[in-house]
Formats: sequence, structure tokens, C-alpha cells
Amino acid sequence: MLFDPRPKKRREELFDRNKEIGQLINTKEPLTLLLGIRRVGKSSLLRVTLNEIENGFYIDARKMYFDSGGWITSESLIREFESALNSLRGSVRGKVLEALRHVKGVSLSGVRVELSRDVRLSDVLEALNEVGAVIGIDEAQYLRFYGARGGKEFLALLAYSYDNLDNLRFILSGSEVGLLHDFLGINDYGSPLYGRSHGEVVLKPFSRELSIEFLRRGFSEIEMEVPHEVIEGAVNFLDGVPGWLVEFGRKYAEIRNLKGSLEYVFRQAKGFLNGELKELERRSPRYVLILEAIAMGRNRWELIRDYLASKGQNVPKSRLAELIKNLEKMSWIEADFGSGRKRYRIIDPVIERVLMER
Ligand code: ADP
Ligand code: MG
Repeated sequence: MLFDPRPKKRREELFDRNKEIGQLINTKEPLTLLLGIRRVGKSSLLRVTLNEIENGFYIDARKMYFDSGGWITSESLIREFESALNSLRGSVRGKVLEALRHVKGVSLSGVRVELSRDVRLSDVLEALNEVGAVIGIDEAQYLRFYGARGGKEFLALLAYSYDNLDNLRFILSGSEVGLLHDFLGINDYGSPLYGRSHGEVVLKPFSRELSIEFLRRGFSEIEMEVPHEVIEGAVNFLDGVPGWLVEFGRKYAEIRNLKGSLEYVFRQAKGFLNGELKELERRSPRYVLILEAIAMGRNRWELIRDYLASKGQNVPKSRLAELIKNLEKMSWIEADFGSGRKRYRIIDPVIERVLMER
């Protein structure tokens, strides 16, 4: 069902995206990045792709980060691997278990795989390499919170696999595109991954036509006839981010009222956003002020600076530049050079509206 709010897991549940699935399945690159803004469908695409591959592992870095209270411990990484191994089904499961049988720290109790605390993940990867596997890591930029060195140990593991384990492929997904690039440091001489080539799949919001088609199909699945004006009205407001379209479809099915449903999506978006903003605020309260300024159309450098000053925040030039750069890296905003002047805009129009009303 298209209007199911959870990330999709099977191909038949996913709307469009066949091209992207094909790219992710067919690439020969040892490392592929799957990028795109929040709610655009990365987790869904990653899960569906891994499901289409016989030996695909799904690991959620953001979940590990929150589960262990703002850090990723090696214990939590081991548990994620363990649960990914245990979620394997079918004939490939037997093959993987066989390959793991002799790895130190791995025990097979009945039908379950158990990894002890001192298992070496490089040993596990070597065993997986015997059968071949694709390992997908969602919101992988959170791995910078792994270990004490900004995730370097994990990158070293990735680099080791990249160089030596020909039958393993990694797909790293992230909404904080710039942060993911920074973390991997492919262009950074000091990074273990320096100089490695990689593939990239960038997931975009649906076009207007596809967004309309998405809602049509969603409503037809639940056998609802919905006037064209309603669908157009929703797409005008929500644009092509599937996460918002799903929320809209669910609500409209319930209350059959365009305005009320849009308001509802808006409140949902607000709730979702408040969580994200709180996290930003913890890093610096100024981030949120900058976002507010841009949402209100104070979208040039000097205007942002003045807005912050009006809120009692006099921020040195270099610091403001850094904060703005970070917001770009986190895929909240993008710079636009139209009419010769640099302006910033909030990438997702729904998020922009939410910010305007704060
Ligand atoms: P992201 O990981 O980019 O934040 P998700 O995969 O969690 O996005 O998707 C957000 C919401 O949109 C979920 O409800 C998901 O089911 C839905 N969704 C995303 N892409 C699609 C798609 N191609 N077809 C159907 N539903 C989708
Ligand atoms: Mg996701």
C-alpha cells in the first residue's frame, strides 16, 4: 500500500524508482552513496534494493546513535550486524552460517547467530566475502559517532573491505549529504578512504506529474475516488516529497477534506521537524535562527546576520559562514546564485512553511 507510513520493503510496494533500483543493483562499485533530502524515500529504496539482492544487509546508523544515547559503541555495531545476519532467509542463510562457522567469537545456537563482544568485524566481513554480500548502511553519516576518533576505525574497516574483499559491496545512504562526504573523506588525504572511487545515486522528489500519479494510485488502492482539484491542490502545497504525500493520502482518506488534511500534514511535519531542530539546537541555537531567517525570505548573507543580531546574537563573520556551510552540508538549505547574488533557500517547501510559522 502506497499510503503505508513505514519505509517500504518490497518492490511492489514502491512507486517508481525502478531506474534507481537498477543502478543500485547493477553497479560494480565497491562503494555507492545513496543521497537525498529527508523523507524522499532513501530508506525505502535501500530496503527494497537489499531485499531484491539475495544477500543484502540493512544497518541503521541513526538508530544505533539514538539507542546508545548519542554515540555508537562497538557493542551496538556488533548487535546490528548480528540482527542483520539473523534476518537472512532462504538458501543464502545456510551458506552464510556455514561461512561464519569458524569465525572466532561467532556462535551458532540452534537457528540463531550470536556474536560475542570481542568478535572482530573484519573476520565477519571476510567470512561474508566468501558468499558475497551487499551491506547497506542507512544515515551512515552518524557513524562519525563511532569510537573515539570520529568514526576512523569504521572507515578503516571499510577501506580494508574495499581493497581486499572483492565480493562485498557497500551502499551508504544519508540525508546529510555534505556530512556524509566529510565523514568518508574521499578527497581528504588523511582519510582511510582517500582516493577511492565510488558510485552515487541521488534520489529526487517526484516531478509534478509523478506526484499526481502517486496520489491517484494511492487512492485507487484504497478504492477512493478523489476529485482532481484535491490532488492538484495537495501537490501544489506539498511538492514531490513522498513522505508528505503519504501523510496527506492517509489523512484525506479519513476526513475527506483538502484543507484539513494539508493542515494535518503540516502538523506532522512540524512534529517531525521539532525533533530534528532540537538536535540542531543542541549543536548550536543559531542554526535554528538562520533557518528561520531564510524561511522568512531574509535569504542573503547580510540579512541573515541582521536577523541574528535582532535576536541578540552577534555572530562573527567567519562563524556565521561556518554555520551556513554546515546547514548546506546537512541538506537543510542550498545556495542559489540567480540574478548574480548569492541567496539561500530551504530545500523542502514543506519544511520552509513549518519554519515560517514558528
Ligand atoms: P527517507 O529515508 O528518505 O527519509 P523513507 O524511505 O522513510 O524516506 O520514506 C518516507 C515515507 O515515504 C515513508 O512513508 C515511505 O513509505 C514513503 N515513500 C518513500 N518513497 C516511496 C515510494 N517510492 N513509493 C511509496 N512510498 C514511498
Ligand atoms: Mg530514512
